[in-house]
Amino acid sequence: MRWVRFQAPDGTIGYGWVEGDRVGPVKGDPFDEYERGPLQWSLEEVRLLAPVLPRKVIGIGRNYPDHAREHGAEVPSVPIVFLKPPTAVIGPGETILLPPQSRQVEHEAELAVVIGRGGRWIPADQAWDAVWGYTAANDVTARDLQQRDLQWTRAKGFDTFCPLGPWVDTEFDPTEATVIGRVNGEVRQMGSTREMVFSIPQLIAFVSSFMRLEPGDVILTGTPAGVGPLRAGDVVEVEIEGLGVLRNPVAEERAMAR
Ligand code: MG
Repeated sequence: MRWVRFQAPDGTIGYGWVEGDRVGPVKGDPFDEYERGPLQWSLEEVRLLAPVLPRKVIGIGRNYPDHAREHGAEVPSVPIVFLKPPTAVIGPGETILLPPQSRQVEHEAELAVVIGRGGRWIPADQAWDAVWGYTAANDVTARDLQQRDLQWTRAKGFDTFCPLGPWVDTEFDPTEATVIGRVNGEVRQMGSTREMVFSIPQLIAFVSSFMRLEPGDVILTGTPAGVGPLRAGDVVEVEIEGLGVLRNPVAEERAMAR
């Protein structure tokens, strides 16, 4: 099943499900009891939102060897873990804002794992049971600040730096998925989840060994080589082949209190 969050033509916001280009409402708790309504709208009629509202977004650094190498970094022997704040999350079609503090904001096309059951100390051989589904993510990064700061919180934590979507697919097979990053229609990144240094079960086992994973939490599984700059006016896409395309425009942020 493909889960979305969406705003219906009458303004109502809630969870929904997608089949083909039709959307229907879902009532109840997606992680517990729920009921699907009829597929009553087309995708064009509704506004898709980030498909999940995670309480935490966990990033994994250098999880593709060719990306580690493009930054002259070693392939890690232990997963490199960081957090992105939930305030960074935006949905499909929402604008990535280039903050005035950075001159080098880059795209990172990634497969995102959305946690369902969660828990602590999840063994790798039971980790698939902890997953709700998969979506596309852009781990937007201010590369200059990442290199300048002692850690990555600011570089990866700006508002709008975590586009997710367009939907969470609960049937998707993530083990040999193609991850594609495009800017203005041009392919910049292409890799296979086969290349990951640490597999999804290994990542779930590692992260849950120190941090409780909860329903709706998101793990960004790392990016293949080819990361590069985003400029105002660009349209950036992350496609997970067979899952969907996450498309976001890019604009300058003007510093102002909101
Ligand atoms: Mg990344």
